[in-house]
Order: sequence, then C-alpha cells, then structure tokens
Amino acid sequence: MIPDIVEGALDKTETGLRAILAAQARVRVVIAVPVVLVEAYLYLASTEGVAGRLFALTLGYCAYVVAMHVLVHYRKSVPAHYLLVASAVLDPLALSAWLVVMGEYGSIMVGFYLFTILGFGFRTGRPLMHLCQLTAIASFLLVFLSVPYWQANPTVWVALMLPLVVVPMYAGVLIKTLRESREHAERESQAKSALLAKVSHELRTPLTGIISATELLAAEVGYETVTRRTDTILTLSNELLREINELLDVAKFGSRAAQLESAPFDLAEKMQMVHDALAPSAAKKGTSFCVALDPAITDRVEADAHHLGRVLLNLAGNAVKFTERGQVNVAVDLLEETPLEYRLRFSVEDTGIGIPESFHGSIFQPFAQVDQGPGRRFGGTGLGLAFSRQIVELMGSELLFESKPGKGSRFWFEVNLARSAAVEESFDATPSTPASSDADRLRILVAEDNETNLMLLHELLVGDGHEVTTCASGMAALDALAEQDFDLLLLDYNLGDMDGVRLLQTYRFGRIDAAPAMFLTADTSQQTAIRLRECGAVGVMYKPITLARLRMAIRDLGKVADPGAVLDVSDPTPPVDAGPRQTRPVLTAIVASPIDASVIEELKQVSSRPEFFPNLLLEACNDIRRNVGQISAALAERHYAAVRDAAHALKGVSGDVGAVRLVALAGNLMAATREELETAHLRWSADLAEATRVTVIALQKELPEGAVALSADASASLQLD
Ligand code: ADP
Repeated sequence: MIPDIVEGALDKTETGLRAILAAQARVRVVIAVPVVLVEAYLYLASTEGVAGRLFALTLGYCAYVVAMHVLVHYRKSVPAHYLLVASAVLDPLALSAWLVVMGEYGSIMVGFYLFTILGFGFRTGRPLMHLCQLTAIASFLLVFLSVPYWQANPTVWVALMLPLVVVPMYAGVLIKTLRESREHAERESQAKSALLAKVSHELRTPLTGIISATELLAAEVGYETVTRRTDTILTLSNELLREINELLDVAKFGSRAAQLESAPFDLAEKMQMVHDALAPSAAKKGTSFCVALDPAITDRVEADAHHLGRVLLNLAGNAVKFTERGQVNVAVDLLEETPLEYRLRFSVEDTGIGIPESFHGSIFQPFAQVDQGPGRRFGGTGLGLAFSRQIVELMGSELLFESKPGKGSRFWFEVNLARSAAVEESFDATPSTPASSDADRLRILVAEDNETNLMLLHELLVGDGHEVTTCASGMAALDALAEQDFDLLLLDYNLGDMDGVRLLQTYRFGRIDAAPAMFLTADTSQQTAIRLRECGAVGVMYKPITLARLRMAIRDLGKVADPGAVLDVSDPTPPVDAGPRQTRPVLTAIVASPIDASVIEELKQVSSRPEFFPNLLLEACNDIRRNVGQISAALAERHYAAVRDAAHALKGVSGDVGAVRLVALAGNLMAATREELETAHLRWSADLAEATRVTVIALQKELPEGAVALSADASASLQLD
C-alpha cells in the first residue's frame, strides 16, 4: 500500500530508505548545534517567560533528534517508510514550534520550510514532499494565529506563505519530468545491456566450438606447420573469448542483472580452474602463481559457482596483470565451521606494483583505472573490481583490500557458505583373506559412481587377491588418495561430482610418486579417447569390464614404458567413432535376445559367495531403472547433455550384466544428434521402456531358484510411459 510513497527514491529497499533517513538524521544533528547556540544566546537576552519556553523547546527538539537517530540506526523493527512519513510531518512541526517561540525573530527561519519540503521531494519523490508541504502550510497558519507579530504583519506572512504553496508544486512538475527521463534512460540502458549480453553470449557459443575443434585438430595432426597455425588460432580465440567474457560482465554490470543462484559445487575444482586459466600467463612473465585450498575444507559448498569463479578470476587476473616479478597467491582459508556451514576467507595476494594511496577511494568505481603514465598500458575495462564488489555484496560480504605502491596488494572477502551433503566416506574393502606378501597383490583404488560396476569390480579384484578400496564419488576418491598410497587407480571417466580426468589431475598436482591410473568408460567417442590419452593415464578400458580384460590390463601394467601411452585393453577393434557420423534411424542395432548368455555365465563364476550374483542382478536392475527414468525425463525436458550422461551410465551398467539390447540403444542415444533426439523423443522413450521390460524379464529368468526375485515393484516401475 505504501511503496509508492517513495516513488522518487533510487533504491526503494529497506536499506535504501534507511540510507535516506540516516542522511536526514545527520542534517538534523548538524542543524541542532547552531540552533542550540542561537537559542542559548536568545535565552540569555530574553524575558523570563520566553526563556522557559525556549528551554523546553530546545529539550524537545534535542529529544526528537536523538529519538530519530536511535530509531533509524538501532530499531530496525520499525519500517523505514513509517519513519519517513513521521519525519515528513514532524520536521515542519518542529520548525513551526520555533517560530511560535521566537516571535518576530522567527521570520529568518521561515526559509527552512522550503529547505525541508524540497529535501523530501528530491530524496523520496512527490508524495512525501506534498505531505511535508501540507503540514508546513497548516502549521504556518497556526503560527499566524498564535503569534502577534505575524498578525501585525499579514503582508509579510502572505509573502512567505506564497512560495510554500507555489514552489513545491513547480518542483513536483520538475521532479516528475526528471523521474520520467531517468526511467527512460534506465530502460534504454537495460535494453542495450541485454542486447550486449545476448550478442556476446551468442558469440561465445560458436567460439567455444572453434576452440574445441582446433584443439582436436592440433591433437590429430602431427605436422609442425599445422600445429603452429592451430596454436595461433587457439591463442587468438582464447584472447577473443576472454574479451567476450569481459563484455558479458560489463553488460551484466550495466543492467544490474547479476542474480546469484546457489548450487553445490567443488571448491577444489574451482581453484583448479583459476589455476589452469591464469598459471600460463603468470609463467610467461616469470611470476609464480599458487592456489591453495585449506585441506580442512572437505565438503562441497553451496554458492553461485559461476559468479564466484568470475570474482576470483577478476582478482587473480589483476594480480597477475600488475605483477611483473614475484608471486601471486590465491587462497581459501577455513575460519570457522559448523555442521551446516563454513566461514571461508578468499584472498588474492600479489607482490606487484601496488595501488597508489590517492586511488584507494575510487578503486571500486566503474571504469576507474590508475593512470600508469605514458607508454604503460595494461588494458582492461576498469569494471572488474566494480563487478566483483557487486557480486561479493550479493553474497552478503564485503570486498576489502590493502595495498602499498611498489610492494603489492591483497584483496579478500569472508563469506559463510552452506556445506553441501557431506562427502561420502570411502570404505575399505580389504579382502577377508589375510593379505599375503605376494608381489602380485596390488592396492587398488576403484572410483566409480555406479553401484553395479563398483560391486562387480570389487568382487573381481578381491577374488584375485587384491586389496581394494572403493569410492562412489570423486571427492571420496580424493580423500582416500590423501590418506593412503595405492599401486593402481581405476577411475570411471564420468564420476558424478567430477570427471575422472579432473580427479587424476588434482591427485597428481605436485606429486612425484603418483600411482598409475587407468580409466573405465563406456564412452567410445574419439574426443574422449584423445582427452584420456592426453591426461597421462596408462590405460583405458571400455565397458563392459570382464575379468579377463582386467587381468590383462593389470598384468600389462609393468610393461608400459611410456606412462603417457594409452594401453587400450578393450576389444581388438577399437570402439572409436571413425569418420563422419551418419544420420541413423532411431533404432538400428536391435539384437534378437536382450541379454548375452555368455556374460551371464561369466558373472556366475565371478564369486563363490551365493548371494553375489542375485544381488548384482538386483543392483543392476535398480541402476537400469534409474538411468532409463533419467533419460526419459531429460528427453522430455530436451536436456540433451543429461540424456547423454544418463545414456553413458546406462550403457555401462547394461554392459556389466550383458544386457546387449540396452547397450545398443544407449550407444545409439549417445551418438544421436540433437535433431534426432528432438524429433523422435517419444519413440526413443517407448523403445527404451520396451527394451527395459524384456531385459528385466530375461534377467529374472537367470536368477537361481530361491533367490530373491526381482520385486514386482522393481519391474513395474520399469514400465515407462
Ligand atoms: P581492469 O583490471 O579491467 O582495469 P579493475 O576494476 O579490475 O579493472 O581494476 C581497476 C584498476 O585497479 C586497475 O586498472 C588497476 O589500476 C587497479 N588494480 C586492480 N587490482 C590491482 C592489483 N592487484 N595491483 C595493482 N593495481 C590494481
């Protein structure tokens, strides 16, 4: 009901309105000092009756000033717009009280009515201005009626009353015009910023494609001339991408559109990203660049990962830009922790040129840059810090800095971030048979987010006498890797919280005795093959994993001379997509029987424990059901990256239990183009549901007599519409 009472305020939030009240409270305090002095003088020179009233008025006015100050600063429970309305009435009343007491001397004070009225007009808009004006007119009328001086000089009274009536009306028209032109300018600027954001976003999408394609080209072609040219393309494209990202920041800053979205993410990954983005430019200048994450931060945190990343990149980017030699340190320290949240300090410190004292006051102003003198150009827009401060404030904190010219700078902020679901504990799956001194026995870490695969790998490896630690997530694997040493790492390429490559890179960072790592994946695309080859794994195993392949891979470990070489232990024909992909009909490779009997036979031999096989089938059915559900939901929502991820998981788990029909379908889904998925998504879902139904029935038939049957529930929920 009240909001438009402050139609002219730039910031109509409670904080914005309190800022107006605080400014008014300051003016009142400033006015109170001369008033008390003048009144003290008048008091000494006046008759006794006047002196008593002056004394009472001074006390009353001081009480009003103090009360408003307390209400504005310390009683946040009283809404700001109530206080504004109250002060719009009380300010002119206080002035009128003076006029009554001061008699003829009051005429010198009448101008303050206009001062108060126009002050409300320009700060809060017309409604409060007119309220203040009406109170002033009414109370000045009362002054006329109660003070003999004004009754004796009605012309003077009218001459002073007229501006009180006319000037605020005229000011009201001006304020309205001003407001309209400001709104018009804001709308235009927002439209321009939105256009800028859209254009730069549209530019970024194809550019990332150009960069990826060039990276692939560089990896595939060995000619030096081609490599040189791809390097040039990559350098220029990355430069362009950086400019476009900056442009996006500018647009977002201009349109005040930055809105934070909170989601769980991995701080280690974010820090790695900052490192990967800036370490090369720092290295080129000979500056050392370090990122450090407090090891006590074990959980993922909830925040806007994208914007936090932009702030860190801005601050660390500046540190690198303005540091010619020495070092740049980016750190995240744990200050306090509760079971629900962390209090963290993010800081970026450099030993660069520093910031002159005279610039400290304006450093966060948009477009502010230190003049580095002739011939020195550092580029940039001067918006990075303004943008970063805005984001940090939206996160409920303050961006602070200290700097000494010639010595360096330090920027930091402290925030409370919610801890996301605690990282799963890795459990030690040491075999029940006591460890022997057999040299072939390896300590193996298996990181895999798919329960079926995890069970299977665990059983296969333990059966061969290895000491196995299983981890269902990347973070759990990192924890396990920090705590103990391993002889071999078997890493799923697609872990839920991070990909296996990132896990391997984080584990290897700064380690000289890193254990060899082998990837497990159902993704047979060439792109993935190249990425795996480049990250330094000793091997890649394509799912489904069999005991024979595992044994072969482990046996051949010792033979790998070049740890960068990929030891492909998949089928002899590498399952790599070759040549341009043909548009395929939705269903091609439908195999007559939904499951491969030989795989089932092999699984039955894996373990001597009777419960292993039925448990594995049950777990596999649960996983299949979950993945198929995810695919159907993602297809319906046209979320094709999620379709691909879930299809990848489905392919893995189906391969484990020989569900060949589902493997073929999942493979087709992974290879399908966007258009193929879009045009035939209903058919994909129907085919998946049918394949799942027949697969579950076939798996059920494999269960030994007396084993827990796949519950009706499980198979019923596999029926997808
Ligand atoms: P930009 O880096 O695009 O110029 P910023 O808003 O990020 O814009 O920074 C504004 C200015 O503040 C910079 O141009 C530079 O003069 C100064 N500045 C920021 N960070 C540092 C730093 N770490 N060392 C020295 N000067 C800095």
